[in-house]
Amino acid sequence: MDFDLSEELEALQMSVRRLAQDKVKPLARQIDKEGTYPYAVFEAFRDAGLLGLCLPVEFGGSGAGILGLAIAIEEVAKYSNTAALMLLLTRLPTGPVMIAGTEAQKAKYLPGIAEGTLRAAFGLSEAQAGSDVMGMRTRGVRDGEDWVLNGTKCWMSGVREANWYTVFAKTGDDPASRAHDSITAFIVEREWPGVDVGRTDHKMGVKGVDTGELILTDVRVPAENVIGEVGGFRLAMLGLNAMRPIVAARGIGLAEGALMYATQYVQQRAAFGKTIADFQGIQWEIAKCAVDIEAARLLTYRSAVMADAGKFTKEYVPYLSMAKYHATELAVRASSLAVQLLGAAGYMEDHPTEQWYRDAKQLTIVEGTSQVQLGLIARGVLDRDLWWD
Ligand SMILES: Cc1cc2nc3c(=O)[nH]c(=O)nc-3n(C[C@H](O)[C@H](O)[C@H](O)COP(=O)(O)OP(=O)(O)OC[C@H]3O[C@@H](n4cnc5c(N)ncnc54)[C@H](O)[C@@H]3O)c2cc1C
Repeated sequence: MDFDLSEELEALQMSVRRLAQDKVKPLARQIDKEGTYPYAVFEAFRDAGLLGLCLPVEFGGSGAGILGLAIAIEEVAKYSNTAALMLLLTRLPTGPVMIAGTEAQKAKYLPGIAEGTLRAAFGLSEAQAGSDVMGMRTRGVRDGEDWVLNGTKCWMSGVREANWYTVFAKTGDDPASRAHDSITAFIVEREWPGVDVGRTDHKMGVKGVDTGELILTDVRVPAENVIGEVGGFRLAMLGLNAMRPIVAARGIGLAEGALMYATQYVQQRAAFGKTIADFQGIQWEIAKCAVDIEAARLLTYRSAVMADAGKFTKEYVPYLSMAKYHATELAVRASSLAVQLLGAAGYMEDHPTEQWYRDAKQLTIVEGTSQVQLGLIARGVLDRDLWWD
């Protein structure tokens, strides 16, 4: 067992840390305030080769895997969860293609992501079907060699900027079926007839990358754009399982940024003839949060190593879910602590703490809520996939 990063990953961590300090930190508040897509950050990521971190070398990526991407996201999320989301979106929609796509699909859709000439988004959720994905109503019907898709996906991150989408639709004979083999994944291009972006959401945080609707009206999708098998819904779950460490990294980075900021503040904030940092009550809060961060990092890095080893099937789910659950709940706790440690100043826009507080909350909702993760962890124990004997 070795807890050290490899030399390559340590070098990646250091270079992204510098990039985040130079290119992300100065823009973070502006991105939040203006809520417009931060092209400057995207270009900085592109120029540094970060958009292809988790993509295979043969398709233009750098093959740093999920662990490499998680490490980069952790650094960036210290300042901006919007920037972290931009990196996450290089993996969420491409995951199913990498796991089950054809070589032709990979050759057509992956290199552009790494080069920064294409962007993609992921359409699973619908207004009536979030955690309960089997309740989706988007329908795919076979017509000759093609499929015809109709439906509306919602809350899709990066929907406006994307050039292509990974979209899930019901393809079984019975649209009300809850059988797993009734759902199929497709690659849908933005420019195809019948593909429209609908309303975009007014979010409380992580502004700058839109979330919104993707409306599909009689969209003809060639059979070659089916990802994996028809009825291969398991793919959605495998893709999401492999994403757990990446979402978790957004949480640990945010928590680290918030705790470091608040620590520097309390060390210079005078009260009662001392600094606030001199009070044991404050020190213990800092210590507890530091323990929490390191525990979440260990869970996250371990889960990333597992995912990179292809261990994201059922027996590994509890370990992956634990990382996502613990790190994202930590982000909420740490950002709340940071606001509290700054007092009134932490509540005001003069400090980034109020932004971290708003940004953190989405992490416990996206890609499987905390309750869904707890359900998966409990299932693992009940089924003896997670057992200590
Ligand atoms: C900022 C943001 C970005 C997003 N981006 C994307 C995206 O790119 N692509 C995409 O497809 N989706 C996206 N989503 C949607 C996200 O995946 C869903 O919000 C999430 O799956 C939860 O679904 P829901 O909102 O319908 O909540 P619901 O499923 O209605 O859940 C509501 C509450 O009930 C709880 N609950 C539900 N089921 C259970 C259960 N079985 N046991 C216990 N409690 C339960 C939940 O934990 C939650 O607290 C995004 C959401 C947000 C907020």
